[in-house]
Amino acid sequence: MGTPPLDRSTIWPYEEGEPGEFYYSRYGNPTQAAAERALGELEGGEALLFSSGTGAETAFVLSFLRPGATIALAEGGYYGTSVMFRQLEPWGLRFVEFDQTGAPPDGVDLVWLEAPSNPFVTMPDLEAAVAHPAPVLVDATASTPIYLRALEQGADYVLHSATKYLTGHHDVLLGAVVCKRTEAAASLKETRGRLGITASPDAAWLLARGLHTLEVRMRRHTESATEIAARLERHDGVELVRYPGFGGLLSFDVAGDVQRVETSLRTIANATSLGGVRSTLESRHRWEGDRVPANLVRLSVGLEPVEELWDDLNQALSR
Ligand code: PLP
Repeated sequence: MGTPPLDRSTIWPYEEGEPGEFYYSRYGNPTQAAAERALGELEGGEALLFSSGTGAETAFVLSFLRPGATIALAEGGYYGTSVMFRQLEPWGLRFVEFDQTGAPPDGVDLVWLEAPSNPFVTMPDLEAAVAHPAPVLVDATASTPIYLRALEQGADYVLHSATKYLTGHHDVLLGAVVCKRTEAAASLKETRGRLGITASPDAAWLLARGLHTLEVRMRRHTESATEIAARLERHDGVELVRYPGFGGLLSFDVAGDVQRVETSLRTIANATSLGGVRSTLESRHRWEGDRVPANLVRLSVGLEPVEELWDDLNQALSR
């Protein structure tokens, strides 16, 4: 079977004078629904797509939390998540950061983990989080369901920036939340339609197509990143390497001038984002400030030949 057809309609006629399953695309459309089924099967839950990973986060928070609610957020995770939470502070959202390798703090209404965190690549203690009375969300953007099926391990929600590995080609902005419970998915779907943070059919179609190759891409990302991480460990121009042992995301601290490394690259793109077929590298200090070491660079290992990548890194680090 190929990828399901792409339907860009925004409206579908009523059936016998009544709205059918699809009638206005903000509330749902067949291309989006087909991609959601495919992702839901991979994660073992009910998936919903949003216009970006951040859009998925916003819809989630506005759907399930109320003013005064506090989120326990994994420290060292994606910077933009805390930025978005801060944006909602005037509306009464609160968050505290905690070390996700241990138990979440008491008295919070939601536990928000990231597996692995971006860019520190720590893995959460899921067992400790699931033992906490609050619901647990795992941002599994960098693991993907190939390496982590968090719903099976007791999490209530999985979130993805599908902009990254799930679509995998640096050409789609897309987000997803996968819910364990049907009622939660129905409620989030209703909020999505009301807020209008829905995915375009084109983006959903590219997800459905990307999922066909997800496993083979992830295996290759892992193979190459494992080799690159090992070589970086032995390189004189590198002080510290962080790699969780799977996937294509790693970070390392360079011994010399970070910007010199960035601007010396020839094959690897000096660009933001991660999870695509093409490798990307950037200093995170430029975005996150002192939250990260000034000499930390994040590397997303793509699908290029590993020797080509190593030659590029080696020459950039040896200048
Ligand atoms: N979660 C993680 C772990 C991310 O890395 C990102 C983006 O880099 C996001 C969420 C936000 O996703 P998007 O850029 O699709 O809004």
